[in-house]
Parts: sequence; structure tokens; C-alpha cells
Amino acid sequence: MDDFIQKIKARDPGEKEFHQAVAEVFESVKPVLDANPEYRRAAVLERIVEPERVILFRVPWMDDEGQVHVNRGYRVEMNSAIGPYKGGLRFHPSVNLGVMKFLAFEQVFKNSLTTLGMGGAKGGSDFNPKGRSDNEIMRFCQSFMTELFRHIGPHTDIPAGDIGVGAREIGYLFGMYKKLKNEFSGVLTGKSTNWGGSLVRPEATGYGCVYFAAEMLATRNEKLEGKICLVSGSGNVAQSTAEKLVHLGGKVVTLSDSSGYIFDEMGLDAEKLEFVKLVKNIKRDRIERFREKYPGALYFQTDHLLDHNPLWNHKAACCFPCAFENEIQQKDAQNMLHNGVQLVCEGANMPSTPEAVDVFIDSSVLYAPSKAANAGGVAVSGLEMAQNSMRLNWPAEEVNSRLKIIMKSIHQACLDAAAEYGEPGSYVAGANIAGFVKVVSAMLDQGLV
Ligand code: NDP
Repeated sequence: MDDFIQKIKARDPGEKEFHQAVAEVFESVKPVLDANPEYRRAAVLERIVEPERVILFRVPWMDDEGQVHVNRGYRVEMNSAIGPYKGGLRFHPSVNLGVMKFLAFEQVFKNSLTTLGMGGAKGGSDFNPKGRSDNEIMRFCQSFMTELFRHIGPHTDIPAGDIGVGAREIGYLFGMYKKLKNEFSGVLTGKSTNWGGSLVRPEATGYGCVYFAAEMLATRNEKLEGKICLVSGSGNVAQSTAEKLVHLGGKVVTLSDSSGYIFDEMGLDAEKLEFVKLVKNIKRDRIERFREKYPGALYFQTDHLLDHNPLWNHKAACCFPCAFENEIQQKDAQNMLHNGVQLVCEGANMPSTPEAVDVFIDSSVLYAPSKAANAGGVAVSGLEMAQNSMRLNWPAEEVNSRLKIIMKSIHQACLDAAAEYGEPGSYVAGANIAGFVKVVSAMLDQGLV
């Protein structure tokens, strides 16, 4: 297995996030390969790490001053064994092929866990939307779609949002797709609810993450009620995670953005969360503004060069990283254990470094990896596709109760797979194995394609 990882590194050096994601999955699936020797002859590992298709394209656009810019667009269609490609679009300056491949690879297993028939993909651009006007965002999205539209479709590849791509961007992307194809279809998810979006889709990743945490705590006869919770990020996933935690009686004391974090000892409530939404979603400003309205809170600037983030060093029972990959380092994980943290549930994709994951695995902390814990977003995207196909809109209660059932079944699938392959209680092993087995058996059923 080590040789195999070395080969991948040698073949595509520089794709460090992708190597990290592959190593984590392959570490877990060793017992599956040992139990199924035919998998090696069928080269399932070699096949599953190679994207079925990579689309890389130029995105030229003009800013409000008439200056032309050129960004790179990507769509990595990783695996379609169990359904059409599905996965978000990310607009962030850090986007490159390695980041896209890591996210697409994770998406394959995550989608498999949801119980819905969706393959895995990811796309986006190194475009930085920060500080750009609505018109600039619209022009960029339109230019991006003038190439992407050739490769996607409601039965082929159905993108959604991710970092930097929310309801506004999905609207502009959809508008251009509709014009180019002359069809109104469910080609994107995360649409606004008055033209085909599903209720609870914006909240689904965060709500699902909290439902997963509640399931984990229930295995120890514990509840979220009364527990102090640290949440990072202040975007889509962080907001809905914090909101659901507050609904369930948790006390959320932190939120962050790429500049810094706030610590509110009194805990957030519905009114404070509304203010956060105003600052981040409407004004597109910094989380620091929170302190101006709520002077009782503290604000700390983040130093990205530190080997730890002080946000994770506050006393708490539960941690919900909901911002960015590798935001929890080894020292953060050690600080959490030192402070008596009982649960870490990942809303962001791969937010813990491998060293931090090792710290969690070697402890008694309940640790849920992102591909299981944040699968609620894509699950409700799958429900949005189902509603679009039927030309129906389900009420919020129905979508929410389906989301709860899906998160409960993912939790159980993780526990069952972990127990079956000799790693009882490991959500990491369970998520990787359960996701992997379903995709690989579909690949084998469909022959060498
Ligand atoms: P948003 O763009 O809505 O929010 C991202 C948040 O992360 C912002 O608060 C942003 O701060 C912060 N952030 C960005 N870069 C960094 C950084 N380098 N260090 C610290 N914080 C940073 O994105 P989402 O909430 O949608 O996504 C958050 C995470 O959840 C990502 O890992 C994403 O892949 C994952 N995810 C999202 C899903 C979804 O449905 N949206 C589904 C499944 C996973 P700032 O405002 O300063 O940029």
C-alpha cells in the first residue's frame, strides 16, 4: 500500500491534498482488499484514484473598470459507478488541480454513503470573489458556464455550491446554462426555492452534521443539550451548524473567518446568528463586525503561520470545524483533548491534518470524518434532484425528516462497516469502508470501462 501511495505521489507531485485524502482512505480499506483478493487483480485502487475525466478551461472576464482577467476553470469527474457525477463548485484563490482531485475523491465516498445514487465530482476556479461587485461575479459566472455547459446536464453531471459559491452564484450559473441549452432543468442544485431549489438545502450540511453528532453522543447516552461547542467558519456550513446546535440546546461560543475569530462566552442565540448572516451573507464583511454590535464578545486575529489556532483551545465539549481543509493541526487536537473535548464532528472537508486525526484516533474522543458528517448537504442536493424530476416541492418538514433519516443511516452504516472489518467504533474506518465497498462493487458489475 505504501508503494502504491508513493507511485501516486511520483506521478502527480504537488497534489498534496489529494495524496492526503487517498492515503487516509487506503489505510482504512486494507482489510477489505485482504478479504477480496479479486479486487487487486481488477486493479480497483488504480482505477478509483484516476478521474474518469478532467476538464480544464480558460475563464476570461472583464472587471468593472474594463480590465480583462483570466482564471482557470476545473471540473474533475471522478467516478460515475453509482450515478451521475455530483459535487460542488468552489471559487477560491487556493483552487488548483490537486485541491479539485482531493475534493472529487472525497465526494465519491461521501455520495456513496448517502444511500442515494450519485457519483462524485468537484469543480471550481482560482477566481477570488472577495471584494468583487455583483456585476463582476455575474460576468465571471457567465464566462465560467459558457465552457462548463458542454460537460454537465441533469443526467450527466449536476454541480452545486461550495466555498465562494452560494445562492447568488448558482443563480448566475443557472441563468447562463438555461440560455445556452434552451432548457429549464435540474442541472444545478442549491437553487433558490422560487425556481426549483429545495427547502432546507442551504441548511442541510450544517443540520446534517449536528444530527450526526447527536447520533454519536447517543451511543454514550449523552445529548448536545447544555454542551459548550466551538464552531469555526461563518459561511454556509458554520451558520447552519451553529443554528441547529442552538436549537438543540448547545452553547456555541465561537465563529471565525479567514481573518480571525470571535469568542462569546454567553453563547450565540437566534438574534446573534441573524446578525452574523447579515454581516457575512448580505454585507459580505468580516466576522470582526460582531464585536461592534456585541461588545461582550472577544475578537482574535488569526495568525496562519502558527502551528495551532487558539480558537480550538477554549474549554468545550464539542468541536465543529466548518471552515477549511487542514484547519485543525496536531497541537490543536492535543489542546482539545487536554481541555476534555468529547466529540469532533467535521462540517468542512478534511479539516484535520493526518497528525491531528491520529491524535483523535488514539484517544476516546468521538471523531466523525467529513465524508460522513457533512454528507447531509449532498444528500439534500439528491433530494432536490428528485423533486425537480417529479416537478414537486416537498415541505421543509419532509426534507428535514428525510435528512435526519439519512444521517442516522450513514451513522449506522459507519458503525456496521467498522465492526465487520475489525475496527469497532471507528467512524474513520467505517465511513471509508462503507463508501468504498459500494462504489467498487458497482465498478466491477459494469466491467472494465
Ligand atoms: P462559505 O464560502 O460559505 O464559507 C467558508 C468559510 O470558511 C468562511 O467563513 C471563510 O471566511 C472561511 N475560510 C475560508 N478560507 C479560510 C482559511 N484559509 N482559514 C480559515 N477560514 C477560512 O463555504 P461553506 O460554508 O459552503 O464551506 C465550508 C466548508 O464546508 C468547506 O470545507 C466546504 O468544502 C465544506 N462543505 C460545504 C458544503 C456546502 O453544502 N456548502 C457541503 C459539504 C462540505 P471568509 O469569509 O474570510 O472567506
